[in-house]
Amino acid sequence: PRRVVSALQPTGALHVGNYFGAVRRCVRLQRRGEPLVLFVADLHAHTAPQDPAELQRRSLETAAYLLASGVDAERGVLFLQSAVPAHARLCWLLACLATQARLAHLPQYRERAAGGDAPLGLLLYPVLQAADVLVYRATHVPVGADQLQHLQLTAQLVRTFHHRFGRLFPTPAPLLPDDGSDRIRSLRDPSKKMSKSDSDPKSRILLSDGDDLIRLKIQKAVTDFTPEVSFDPAARPGVSNLVTLHSLAADKLPEEALEEARGLSTAQYKRVVADALCGALRPVRERAQALLARPALLHELLRHGAARARALADPVYAEVAARAGLAPA
Ligand code: ATP
Ligand code: MG
Repeated sequence: PRRVVSALQPTGALHVGNYFGAVRRCVRLQRRGEPLVLFVADLHAHTAPQDPAELQRRSLETAAYLLASGVDAERGVLFLQSAVPAHARLCWLLACLATQARLAHLPQYRERAAGGDAPLGLLLYPVLQAADVLVYRATHVPVGADQLQHLQLTAQLVRTFHHRFGRLFPTPAPLLPDDGSDRIRSLRDPSKKMSKSDSDPKSRILLSDGDDLIRLKIQKAVTDFTPEVSFDPAARPGVSNLVTLHSLAADKLPEEALEEARGLSTAQYKRVVADALCGALRPVRERAQALLARPALLHELLRHGAARARALADPVYAEVAARAGLAPA
């Protein structure tokens, strides 16, 4: 049977890159009938220092935005990663199958560790990602192009596991988007991805931003000195990012978005883009605010989700433990 597994880190408020690149894709897969396992990756968040109270607040907030975006927690499974111990248990065994050299070679590790004395958790991050999907016997994982190497590591860990302990896991296949939604760029430096951890808050539009703030950030978005609008991500990353955002927010093809930009200066076009974003994000923001006013309900929903996730993951881990000669959990 098919099973799609995805996650978001509660490392900061979600931005439109997370929304179009991850959350909305999950919602659409789920609406097409794909069985979705979705969680807030609070264990992953600890690869950077976390304030405990703030982490808990952000975890709840992330869950609220997922629900507000249309994730159906009854048809799928929604929970906090740390509430399902099988993730970390499987991670340990997989870590024993991975080599330090292979992990240290991964580009994201090299970027984030940047030659410094990085925490061991950062090196293990992609192994925990492998455990996250294998513990549900995932068949498909929605990813961005920059995550492909991590999925290749997962495939390698599956082969090694099978070689040692016998066949157990499907090799999860990547689901890549074809609408540019996996590479929304920073509004301040379009050579970089939009990111939660960027120090400049004007580099991203948050799902919690009101209409005025959305308009202001789009108005200040870095473009270039060519007045008319065109779509050329390599030569004109800033303007092309606006076209992508417009097409995603208005649910149009990039060509259709460009058609609307015809005859407009970049400054005029920014108003069109901002309008589209405000229209797409307002209902999500309002639903999230209503949910966040009911924390007890959110906690209950996540507790229920975790129980259902454990019911899926525990038997898989029990089989792993049996194969590896370990005690059942
Ligand atoms: P951090 O800076 O803490 O790594 P992030 O913004 O990269 O945060 P993640 O929690 O790492 O967010 O990623 C959550 C999901 O959002 C992933 O599926 C990731 O591919 C997607 N995503 C992150 N940034 C972008 C972006 N700029 N464009 C499209 N998708 C993105
Ligand atoms: Mg990231």
